[in-house]
Amino acid sequence: MSGYQGGTMNQMTDATWEIRDVLLPTGVRATIRIQGKKIVAVGFTSLCDRYLDGSNLEIYPGFRNVHVHFRQPGWEYKETWATAVPAAIAGGYTLVCSMPNAKIQTTTLQALEDKIILVGDQPIDKRFWYGATKTNHADYKYLRSYAQCCGVKLYTSSTTGDMKIVEREIQRYVMATCADARVLLAIHAQDEELRLRNLTRLQAQRELVIADHCKIQDTEVELRAVIQALELQKETRCAILLCHLSAPESLEAVDRARQAGQTGIYVETCPQYLFLNSDFLKGEFAAGFKCNPSLRSRKQMKRMFELTCRPDIVDVISDDHAPHNLGQDKGIVRLRPLEISPRPYDEVASGLPGLQTTGLLVYNSMVASGKVSRFHFANLMSINAGRILGLPRPGIDVGADADLVAIDPQARHVFRHYEMLSKAGYTPYDGFEGSGRIAFTVAQGALYGAELK
Ligand SMILES: [Zn+2]
Repeated sequence: MSGYQGGTMNQMTDATWEIRDVLLPTGVRATIRIQGKKIVAVGFTSLCDRYLDGSNLEIYPGFRNVHVHFRQPGWEYKETWATAVPAAIAGGYTLVCSMPNAKIQTTTLQALEDKIILVGDQPIDKRFWYGATKTNHADYKYLRSYAQCCGVKLYTSSTTGDMKIVEREIQRYVMATCADARVLLAIHAQDEELRLRNLTRLQAQRELVIADHCKIQDTEVELRAVIQALELQKETRCAILLCHLSAPESLEAVDRARQAGQTGIYVETCPQYLFLNSDFLKGEFAAGFKCNPSLRSRKQMKRMFELTCRPDIVDVISDDHAPHNLGQDKGIVRLRPLEISPRPYDEVASGLPGLQTTGLLVYNSMVASGKVSRFHFANLMSINAGRILGLPRPGIDVGADADLVAIDPQARHVFRHYEMLSKAGYTPYDGFEGSGRIAFTVAQGALYGAELK
């Protein structure tokens, strides 16, 4: 595994250097000149004697992950910024947006300020989501004054760190208040009533197993909540990001709403809905695949992939990096040889790590296979997220932040548990292999994973 392994960084705070003759997402070859933390030229003439040869590489704007759970403050045994950031850089990420549902939730302005101070300066760019509660609407109008706050997060159902709002009227009020405050609203859309009904029905029949997860959080659970969110969005005109859509039926509902003229809807999906399916919930390692929303059927996974390849449906692929402690939270005592400590369905935490694997999974399946253009890949992994977050120059551009990721298209990758830098210490994609390798990442002008000539 290339990338940041702790200690391979070449800090170049004010230096000028170049990535020469590298392939841009547009298909043009160029030399990218970096000074300090900024891109100062994208052109054809090389001037610096400090450079990297990019002639065998493709370059993209650093990946932007609008949905991560770095677990601080309060759940440091699951993950910390100190463990997650190296994993992010190794995976090509240069910006992350941290969710509010840590043990100490980001649901007051004081908690937001405390989190900003706690996280402090990091080698990558960062934003924080503000958690909606039933009573904190009055805070939303202040959020734009925090440069590091990216918007409000609404949970319509139970998940890790329970902060759900199930009442339609309150959901509407959250949306209307966000619209007034001109704040983006990210929505975890699952219908709690239907989820509980499925849970109760199955519980009455037998003891639950992890394979039941996709029946409890079935397609309808997501679809009903997505349709409700779309209805409320139409009334309130609030800009919304529908998080981690997992079912093609949900994407089709969004597509219909957009066809009917609805604007201001952004769609996120995650690799677990493109590369994993509910068959994984039946195996010995099932706990390692339990996530919210649940994995879907193989057929739905294939359809999700097809729809994501279209240029007009999914805006961002982030990964909902949601690490847990393998032993304590998942009941996986040891990876090799696999040793499981079986526990009841509801005592297995939901959430998967993804930082180090997402970019290459998507690259291999979409770009290397020829299914999408490099430009669409750049949009899905970075540029659209930058636009949604309001970055002035989300692409590779003069004046943009020097946040880049280079991929070697000739090299191959194989993911292994033991190479993962996240505290989760495993990957649901162990053994997955394919084309492409992260050659290096540039985050805030600093180079990781390569040496200058
Ligand atoms: Zn999440």
